[in-house]
Parts: sequence; structure tokens; C-alpha cells
Amino acid sequence: MNFDLDQEQLMIQKMIREFAEEEVAPGADERDRTGEFPRDIFYKLADLGLMGLPFPEEFGGGDGDTVSFAIVVEELSRVCGSTGITYSAHISLGGAPINLFGTPEQKEKYLTPVCKGEYLGAFGLTEPNAGSDAGGTQTTAYLDGDEWVINGSKIFITNASYAKNLALTAVTDKSKGTNGITAFIVPTDAPGFTVLNNFEKMGLHASNTTELVMDNVRVPKENLLGKEGNGFKQFLATLDGGRIGIAAMAVGIAQGAYEKSLQYAKERKQFGQSLSSFQAIQFKLADMAMNIELARNLTYKAAWLKDQGRKFKKEAAMAKLFASEMCMRVCDQAVQIHGGYGYMKEYQVERYMRDAKLLEIGEGTSEVQRMVIAKTIGC
Ligand SMILES: Cc1cc2nc3c(=O)[nH]c(=O)nc-3n(C[C@H](O)[C@H](O)[C@H](O)COP(=O)(O)OP(=O)(O)OC[C@H]3O[C@@H](n4cnc5c(N)ncnc54)[C@H](O)[C@@H]3O)c2cc1C
Repeated sequence: MNFDLDQEQLMIQKMIREFAEEEVAPGADERDRTGEFPRDIFYKLADLGLMGLPFPEEFGGGDGDTVSFAIVVEELSRVCGSTGITYSAHISLGGAPINLFGTPEQKEKYLTPVCKGEYLGAFGLTEPNAGSDAGGTQTTAYLDGDEWVINGSKIFITNASYAKNLALTAVTDKSKGTNGITAFIVPTDAPGFTVLNNFEKMGLHASNTTELVMDNVRVPKENLLGKEGNGFKQFLATLDGGRIGIAAMAVGIAQGAYEKSLQYAKERKQFGQSLSSFQAIQFKLADMAMNIELARNLTYKAAWLKDQGRKFKKEAAMAKLFASEMCMRVCDQAVQIHGGYGYMKEYQVERYMRDAKLLEIGEGTSEVQRMVIAKTIGC
């Protein structure tokens, strides 16, 4: 058994940490305040060859592994959750379904520009009336000659304002239940396709969260992704991988909050001593360090299993569940260690706490993760 990262993973870790410190961290507070989307950061990540990191070289990807992907998400999130979720969704929700289920022609046409970072990847599953119960999709598609006609709406879709094409689900045969749901690749500039960007969020202010409205959107027959009726299964498989991204985000945000707390505890003096000399504060920091380490191990293990081509559904759900709940606790304690200053924006940990909450909700809530785990252990 070997817990060391390999040379390539270490190189990527060093590169992305430097990039995050130099290019992402400096504007993170300002972007949180203004909600400005950091488009430039993703052009720069494309220059570093990271926008297609885990995808095949023949489609412009980096042929990297899932552990490296998790490291990149972790390091970006350590300084800016919004940048972390944008990158994670681009890869694991935008590129992944096309890589997993697309034909070679579809990959050439739709995965290559995603890998080059020409536009961002996005994924439309959630609807106003179908969230945890994604099988309750109400968007429909019917075949009219050589074209599919799509009607309906999707909600809370990450990155869609910056995506030229995205994969989404629609019901093609209502009588078959979830076996009547099909996935399509849809151009966002198709007539009848509207992307709305009106949400005011608790956190992740500089990430793009949209609503999609499809009014008789026509796509060519060949834009069907995978097999007709397999869309629900394909998207669930996509989410298994996406959960590694959310877990990595949680590890990164928690790590950032912990580091700020450790530094603050050493500098801040009360009762004539630094906070870090009080055992109550030491124990908080010790618990933070231990829980982050546990979550990182779970996350890297799920990523490693995926890289070995082994089953990873249970481990990805466990990593996502544990890491996201851990991250909320760590951020809560980070604010506590900072006292009144922690409640102020200047000290950043309140941003980390607001950003962290999404991790218990997106890509399957904590309750849904427990349902997934319960099923995999034979309940
Ligand atoms: C910032 C952000 C970004 C997102 N990005 C995307 C994206 O890119 N693509 C996409 O498709 N979706 C995206 N989502 C949607 C996200 O995945 C859903 O919000 C999430 O799956 C929960 O669905 P819901 O909001 O409809 O909540 P609901 O399903 O209505 O759940 C409400 C509450 O009820 C609980 N609950 C529901 N069913 C059960 C049950 N059977 N047993 C016990 N408890 C239950 C839930 O756990 C939750 O606590 C995003 C959401 C946000 C906020």
C-alpha cells in the first residue's frame, strides 16, 4: 500500500497551488462581493492544460487521472470556492458525460472545445419540480423528422451562461418511467433556448448558476447522447464521478479555513497569551486537522478506485457526504476561533462558511448520499 502521490500528481499539485495563490486568491473577496465571473482564470487554466485534464489526449485532454483532478479542485477551492465549483462542474459534469457516452464524432465536436477551454462545460439535470427525485423529469423531447424537439426547463445549472453546448435530460417515452429518459447535447444558442442568470445565492457568488428554458428547441437526431432511454442511468453514473469533485472542493475549502484559523490563533492575544495556547482552541484545531485528513483520504481513495476502473459509487458517496459535512463543521469552528472578526468579511472565513453550505446540497443532498450508501451496503 502506498499513500504517496506520484511524480506527476506532485507536479500538478505544485503548479496549481502556485496558480491558485497568485492568480485566484487575490481577487476572491472582491468577486464574492461583486459576483463577477472570473472568465480569465479559466483561459489561464486552459493555457496550463488543465481544462481537459482527465480526458483523452486525442480530444485535446491531458490524459490525467482522477486523483490529479481532485487535487486541482482542492487547491482552487482552498482559496476560492466559486473557482473550485466552476472547474469541478466543467470537468465532471460538462466534459464527463460526453467522454463516457459520446460517439467519436460527438467527442471530436463537443469534448475537444471543452478540453481546450474554449467554453465551459455544463450539465442540466435538475428541474423546478425534479431535484433529489431526478427521475421525475418533466422536460420532454419528441422526434419530428430528423430533429428532436425539446420543451421544458432546468434549474440551478452551473456554468450554462459560458457553455456553447451542454448535455441535458428529457422524457422521450413517459410510459417507461426512468427508462424513458434520454440525454441530448443541446447548443445554448439554438432558437427557443434561453439561459437566465438571476439567482441571488448565499455563497459561491462568483460561480454561474442559471435557469434554462427550452421552448420548441430543435436539435439534430445525431445529438442524442448514448442510447435512447439510457439518459437517467447515464446521468446517475456522471454524478458518481461528480461527487469526487464536490468532496475535493470540501477538502479544499476546509483546508483554507483551517489554515486561516491556525494562523489567527497564533497571532491573536487574549488574557496575555495567544489563542493557540488555550487548550480549548488547540482541540478545535486538532479536530479540524484530523477531519480534513480523513476526508482527503476518503476522497483520494474514491478517485483512485475510479482510476483503477473499479467500482467507486459507495466510496464517492461516502467521500462527498463526509467531506461536505466535515467542511461545514470546520468552517463553523473557523468563524468561532476568529470570534467577532470571524463574522466580518475581512477575515474571509465567513465566505468559506457560506460557500461550504452548497456542498451538502449539490450533486445529491446529504440525505440522498445516505440513501445511495444504504443501497450499496444492501439495505
Ligand atoms: C449552486 C447550485 C449549483 C447547482 N448546479 C447544478 C448543475 O450544474 N446541474 C444540475 O442538474 N443541478 C445543479 N444543482 C441542483 C442540485 O443538484 C439540487 O438542488 C439538489 O439535487 C437538491 O434538489 P432540490 O433543490 O430540488 O431539493 P429537494 O429534492 O426538493 O430536497 C429538499 C430537501 O428534502 C430532502 N429530501 C428529498 N427527498 C428525500 C427523501 N426521499 N428522503 C429524505 N429526504 C429527502 C433533501 O435531502 C433536501 O433536504 C445545483 C444547485 C445549486 C444550489
